[in-house]
Amino acid sequence: MLNFKFSMLILLCVLVITGAIVTGRHRLLVYVMALEGPPELLEVKIEGNDIRWFDDYFTVQAIDKKTFAIGEPRYYQQNYNYLLLGETKAIVFDAGTGQRDIRRVVESITQLPVTFIPSHLHYDHIGNDIVFPRTALIDLPHLRKRSIKGTLQVAWYEHLGEAEGYAAPALSVTQWLAPGSTIDLGNRQLKVLYTPGHTDDSISLLDSASGYLFSGDFIYPGPLYGFLPNSNMGDYLQGAATLQAIDDRALRIFGAHGAGPPGVPELAAGDVSSLQAALKAVQAGRVSSSGFYPVSYPVNDEIMLLTEPAFLQNWQARYPEFGH
Ligand SMILES: [Zn+2]
Repeated sequence: MLNFKFSMLILLCVLVITGAIVTGRHRLLVYVMALEGPPELLEVKIEGNDIRWFDDYFTVQAIDKKTFAIGEPRYYQQNYNYLLLGETKAIVFDAGTGQRDIRRVVESITQLPVTFIPSHLHYDHIGNDIVFPRTALIDLPHLRKRSIKGTLQVAWYEHLGEAEGYAAPALSVTQWLAPGSTIDLGNRQLKVLYTPGHTDDSISLLDSASGYLFSGDFIYPGPLYGFLPNSNMGDYLQGAATLQAIDDRALRIFGAHGAGPPGVPELAAGDVSSLQAALKAVQAGRVSSSGFYPVSYPVNDEIMLLTEPAFLQNWQARYPEFGH
């Protein structure tokens, strides 16, 4: 009898511990991912003729006369931020971690009034202590509800800065961008596409006239992160459908992280089709994963999807009404 009670107690303990790990897995993950101090900069590599070093950290690559990729090839995540110029206004889409001040690079290229738009709220995109006079954010009910007099305190699970010792900032939001709305920079229009999945606050910017899509962390060459606290597979599928609906088979897609060859990380419309097909196969259980946590699914030669194991995947989109 004593043995039975003891076994039950052990079983209960195992269940409680398992429950705690499942519930607190994202906090645990950030703890495991956290670096000891700031990351070491990578060695300077030859970046090719099209790319100019602004200083010993940032690179500038002109995609055309009004579109610039500002790279951070020495940061281990190899971020790419984008400066988009119109005739009267400019946008900077992402600002890195802020360990170096991207405003200096922006000011060296344009005198136009610049609005900062983060592709999402992760610490390696919102610039942290860097403050722009104008910041525009995707208008989502859960963000709007939390903003007080235009200030939004970013939550830890939206920011994940603990991984590199950045505190989650309070953003002064000067403009809210409705999903599907258009930003006019003066003879240049950008459509705000809601592309959740990596996070529930992720957006892409579409410049139809130029045939460019700036996709943030939704899609880029390399491993896509779909296992973070506000990642969601139903959202990812919705985001893929939104991008798949863009009627331009020659679309050039510029992502927020590089992985392989030097220079701007670029994909094509076919890569969105591959992602959408992979997501549908994962949802239907038609493809097997490798690894334990996160698990990995192949997308194509350049892309793989890292996500949670099937029993933890959520296929319910958060805001289906903001799909294409
Ligand atoms: Zn991210």
